[in-house]
Amino acid sequence: MAGFDFDLFVIGGGSGGVRAARYAGQRGVRVALAESARMGGTCVNVGCIPKKLYSYAAEHAEGFADARGYGWQFPVQPVLDWEQLKANRAQAIGKLNAIYENLMTGAQVNRMQGHASLVDAHTVQVRHDDGRLTQHSAATVLIATGGRPWLPEVPGRELAVVSDDVFDLPRFPRRLVVVGGGYIACEFASIFHGMGSEVTLLYRGEQILRGFDDEVRDFAAEEMRKAGVDIRVHADVQRIEAAGDARRVHLRDGAVLDADVVLYATGRRANTAGLGLEAVGARQSENGAIAVDQHFATSVPGVYALGDVVGRLELTPVALAEAMALVDQLFGPLPGQARRTMDYDNVPTAVFTHPPIGTVGLSEQQAREKFGKVRIYRSDFRPLQHSLSGRSERTLVKLVVDDATDRVLGAHMVGADAGEVIQGFAVALKCGATKAQFDATIGIHPTGAEEFVTLRDVART
Ligand code: FAD
Ligand code: NDP
Repeated sequence: MAGFDFDLFVIGGGSGGVRAARYAGQRGVRVALAESARMGGTCVNVGCIPKKLYSYAAEHAEGFADARGYGWQFPVQPVLDWEQLKANRAQAIGKLNAIYENLMTGAQVNRMQGHASLVDAHTVQVRHDDGRLTQHSAATVLIATGGRPWLPEVPGRELAVVSDDVFDLPRFPRRLVVVGGGYIACEFASIFHGMGSEVTLLYRGEQILRGFDDEVRDFAAEEMRKAGVDIRVHADVQRIEAAGDARRVHLRDGAVLDADVVLYATGRRANTAGLGLEAVGARQSENGAIAVDQHFATSVPGVYALGDVVGRLELTPVALAEAMALVDQLFGPLPGQARRTMDYDNVPTAVFTHPPIGTVGLSEQQAREKFGKVRIYRSDFRPLQHSLSGRSERTLVKLVVDDATDRVLGAHMVGADAGEVIQGFAVALKCGATKAQFDATIGIHPTGAEEFVTLRDVART
């Protein structure tokens, strides 16, 4: 691809962009990557990683409470030092930023710090942080600019914060109102509740976590409520106003809530501002996501896009897998390796609520629609750990099985370490495992996960 400065120019140094640049660089391809903020993108800086660290912080509170049942006495009640937690998190993330920078150096990627935009299909302009403006030609351009939080037009919304802000709140919120009922709303409701906030979650619909298995949604909501999160459904915010240092939230039904912080987690939109998409004529969907075909090609030849900016499955491992599939497609696999393709079936996922949710495959509702007759196996139980802790938390495990072929179509769990457990079962589903094969698998005792291989009675068909 002589005649161009680069074979591949990647815009965005998040999960997808970094993986694509590194993977391409390993092939000796001439790669550049422009990132306008911190390396690692959403996941590393304001997403998965800091979120999971704060989730661990919240878990400690549960651990302290549970420990008394195991004979531990604390002469002094433990308290959370918010400033210390923020500082430790910032330090850990700083180390990850540096690791990501080193990955770029190691893969010979020409790393530029600044905002990139398309001048035409083969020219990228970078406004560097130091004020320089440079232009670069590239045979192929990859847009991996991710997403950003989105809020509806509610009066007073400027008084609310979004997930980007929540990690560095100047003061720990004694009272937190969370608006939304998706991943981010539910996770932060659980996390801040665990860390000591009084949390009210306001969701506009019938039940939180739309899209997940209905039984899982009900079970998770019930467990969150039992833990102390005040989940209010059919709750629509009419306006937010300042009340001294506090925020006053008025609901459409007339209810009024005071909080120290209002967190809006009402979804995300593609990050395309100032990218020059209009100039090159790249098509976008109604909600702003960049339209791509199954090969990640945009409507502009030579320009590709993947990750959150295309709005398919907004998960880090999906962005990584898409990046590797695209690089194999463009430059071929590494010697001796199979060519990777992207498969969106049976993508496992976890919601890091307390207790967490782990899920892979179809929900009961999706399976009924697609396969007609299904068999449901389920069990809910009080985990052994809580026989001494005194906590009333219960665990749910559930399998959705195709009656005609005996294939397991979905595996769902609400309970401790659900993400860790479901990751393993995701391999089984990917291999097309049948219920008979689950039954033939010996359990590990005593664990919660063993319930998945000891479910014998059909709960319903
Ligand atoms: P991003 O990681 O968002 O990276 C895009 C990058 O592009 C950013 O660094 C941005 O600064 C840069 N950029 C944008 N425009 C330009 C420009 N014009 N020029 C140069 N650079 C630009 N997923 C999970 O799998 N597990 C989780 O537990 C999880 N938790 C999450 C928690 C939160 C609070 C959030 C918000 C998300 C979470 N996600 C999680 C989702 C995950 O973070 C995203 O799916 C993933 O980061 C998408 O990667 P990406 O490369 O598409 O975009
Ligand atoms: P989600 O799409 O998951 O949830 C958005 C929530 O906001 C929904 O409950 C939605 O309600 C509600 N909502 C939308 N519009 C409005 C409105 N106008 N007024 C009131 N409520 C509204 O988005 P998130 O922001 O939570 O997360 C974005 C994505 O990031 C996730 O889908 C996921 O892919 C990824 N993520 C993954 C995580 C993980 O892997 N653990 C963690 C965090 C994020 P309704 O359901 O009625 O539409």
